[in-house]
Amino acid sequence: MADLIRVLPDVVANQIAAGEVIQRPASVVKELVENAVDAGGDQIKVITKDAGKSFIQVIDNGCGMSENDARLCFERHATSKINKAEDLFAIRTMGFRGEALASIASISQLELKTKRREDESGTHIGIDGSDIQYQQPVATSDGTSIAVKNLFYNVPARRRFLKSPNTELKHIITEFQRVALCHPEVGFSLFHNNAEIYQLSPSGRRERIVQVMGRQLDSNLVNIQIETSIVQINGFIGKPEKAKKTYGEQFFFVNDRFMKHPYFHRAVLRSYESILPPDTVPSYFIFLDLDPSHVDINIHPTKTEIKFDEERAIFQFLHASIREGLGKFNITPTLDFDQEMGIEIPILRKGESFDPPKVEVNPQFNPFELNKDNSPLSGGRPEKHDYSDRNNLPAWESLYPGRSESSQSDIESLTPDSGRFLLLNKKYILTPVKSGLLAIHIRRALERINYEDILSQKESGSDSGQQLLYPEQFDLNPVDLSLVNDIRVEMEKMGFSIDSFGGNSIIVRAVPSQLQGNDVKGLIEALLEDYKNETFNLETSMLDKLARSLSKIASGGMAKTYMAEEMKALFDRLFACSDPQNTAGGKPILTILQTTDIDKRFL
Ligand code: ADP
Ligand code: MG
Repeated sequence: MADLIRVLPDVVANQIAAGEVIQRPASVVKELVENAVDAGGDQIKVITKDAGKSFIQVIDNGCGMSENDARLCFERHATSKINKAEDLFAIRTMGFRGEALASIASISQLELKTKRREDESGTHIGIDGSDIQYQQPVATSDGTSIAVKNLFYNVPARRRFLKSPNTELKHIITEFQRVALCHPEVGFSLFHNNAEIYQLSPSGRRERIVQVMGRQLDSNLVNIQIETSIVQINGFIGKPEKAKKTYGEQFFFVNDRFMKHPYFHRAVLRSYESILPPDTVPSYFIFLDLDPSHVDINIHPTKTEIKFDEERAIFQFLHASIREGLGKFNITPTLDFDQEMGIEIPILRKGESFDPPKVEVNPQFNPFELNKDNSPLSGGRPEKHDYSDRNNLPAWESLYPGRSESSQSDIESLTPDSGRFLLLNKKYILTPVKSGLLAIHIRRALERINYEDILSQKESGSDSGQQLLYPEQFDLNPVDLSLVNDIRVEMEKMGFSIDSFGGNSIIVRAVPSQLQGNDVKGLIEALLEDYKNETFNLETSMLDKLARSLSKIASGGMAKTYMAEEMKALFDRLFACSDPQNTAGGKPILTILQTTDIDKRFL
């Protein structure tokens, strides 16, 4: 019998490796830009087309490559960053695997131009799916340019797997931001379909954060700094009252590379405990520097999840430095641009601790109640239904499982007068019904009512938007901006009116009437956050998704006290809904504590 084992051809091996390293166009951007930074230049330009699907080019003015290296760099495990055996640990600590270029070249049509300063002419190489097409001398400027065309052209399954252009572009911008944030000394630019998205001049760390995330962040940043024998922590955190409802401004870097670290993220959140407005997350840009031999990068092929030898200690240091920063921000004068001004903090050694500073915040803060009582039951809204009409109450019968022939008297006994409502914990409305005690979850009930309202307005084609007296203009970071563009059409159907206002600015002129009175910026952020989490299954239409999150937002205000008539009104409106039992997301709104169950408790 013939031997069975075969060695995979290099091309196939590279494609398999590529599956790990290159998931989408943004991964190419990340690898190429990181290489460009490693090459030591101070200008890096990124050009993309069709969200990177047809074209990605990264141009640097770094060290360039010799003719020989230009050829070698596409071999697997070819890296100039590990020289000798002792350097091998650098594979784990810095993440150099010499795999990126080989992988990218195996799944695209790639063109390289590179020249070292000391060379007369440069090298020009073309590769299609790992096959070298040509290699020739070329007149080119110092540094390296790599253009990647038609990514995944020979792996159609992966190409199909890519998301919408806006989503892929969002990923590209995110990767770009991550590298740009930790290399402020380098100038970066990013272009998409010939439009400039970023043009970042070399600067200091704080100024770079502001360049990347937007000017509005400037007054919001608080410096943190701590130096210990294990780790140096440096960076900026956002003031609690400016915390957003949406993720996108949370960055950890270790030894100048971006990382995700859920455990350290918890340390940040814990430092802000009880001083954040509900459902918000603070911005942070935190840089950890420590001996690379105490870090392990290799547990994840895309190298963003990282293990530390002393995670618990670092957790404590993070916590301490953030509390310190928060405690100081209201007495620290505004920090100047480019001054990289640090606040002196005594070195904290193992075992030492200090009292967390107290920070003044308003615990009553609620972004949804800034201007008015936003209960959907408050007056001033056109009533759409006559809720007292019993024929409008199709769902009552379902309150009695197993009873299909419900009679008029059932309904009678379910229709309590307003004197029979009881408010429990501002959270539930209790009322006796025929079979026991009915409990209504107020927030979820509001969510259901709003949801049906929003959808019915949309269907009736009525002008559901409420023009704002004062249109609100504000900046979004580029990722959020591309998301807004993604769902703009649907948002407008729901009653939003949004225009671009140049740069990263948008102007909101109208919001759905249910959401009138909400803080507009917070509203958009909450919506984007929901959208980013993609908690909905794909079958739900975008409109339905929006209606769901809007209804959640509209009902998410502070718990309040209800008058008896208000409880009655809520009850009536809930039971006029097509499904009073469940929220659109499938959570129960009602439950009945059966009299028989109460009986049992007295046995
Ligand atoms: P790694 O970065 O892990 O070494 P890569 O596959 O990303 O592996 O790159 C392989 C090698 O190609 C690098 O080690 C470097 O020597 C060379 N190289 C890649 N990009 C550049 C660049 N922009 N400028 C100079 N050399 C580069
Ligand atoms: Mg690399």
